Amino acid sequence: MATIAKIRCLSCEGKFDFYFNVRKTDAIQCPYCYTYMEEQSAMQVLDVIGAFSDMNRDLRKYADQRKEPLFQFNLHERGN
Ligand SMILES: [Zn+2]
Repeated sequence: MATIAKIRCLSCEGKFDFYFNVRKTDAIQCPYCYTYMEEQSAMQVLDVIGAFSDMNRDLRKYADQRKEPLFQFNLHERGN
């Protein structure tokens, strides 16, 4: 199971996937125009993706261990 962030770069309108579980670096960079996200913003993004990934992992764990109903969440930002 991997958490994948769908990222849209407004510098070039490029869209790309960011695989949280296989990342080798904390840097977030557009693969089309090579624009880097500012470091502090990237850290905030990674914190949120990490918390989101942990939440889904915990939901799977509780379903497995405590037989709780299982839900899996995905987030999408709409507009612009
Ligand atoms: Zn770009």
